[in-house]
Amino acid sequence: MLEGSCLCGAIRFEVDAPLGTIGICHCRRCRKASGSAFGVNASIDAAGFRLLAGADALAAYAAPTGLTRSFCRHCGAPVYSRRESMPGILRLRLGLLDTPIAARPAFHFFTDSKAEWDAICDSLPQYGERPDDPALMGPPPPRAP
Ligand SMILES: [Zn+2]
Ligand SMILES: [Zn+2]
Repeated sequence: MLEGSCLCGAIRFEVDAPLGTIGICHCRRCRKASGSAFGVNASIDAAGFRLLAGADALAAYAAPTGLTRSFCRHCGAPVYSRRESMPGILRLRLGLLDTPIAARPAFHFFTDSKAEWDAICDSLPQYGERPDDPALMGPPPPRAP
């Protein structure tokens, strides 16, 4: 079980689902939404995400691209995004986790649109856009019962 919270603490949540592969997203939208060079996120099964506090603080921005970004209306912290076409999957913003995790980022994506001042200084695989591979973008398959 993982726990997380936003910057101001109004939103607290737990994740009772394994994290998918961790990706570092350099897309323009993640840059705008975070105010930084990239977002770091992983897919989770939406059914495993439980808000413990702050349902009234969770606001959403639905972009015309079909992606909805949920964030704290008080402190602005991004919490997760969800695609209209994949409502059962959330892309969790890993900076909000309070529980230490053993997994590490495994790839960069949308590097074609990274900030020109952003230097990638590791040897992880880079994808110019969104990789189609569900092993990278999806949650892990459910464990066999
Ligand atoms: Zn907050
Ligand atoms: Zn992005």
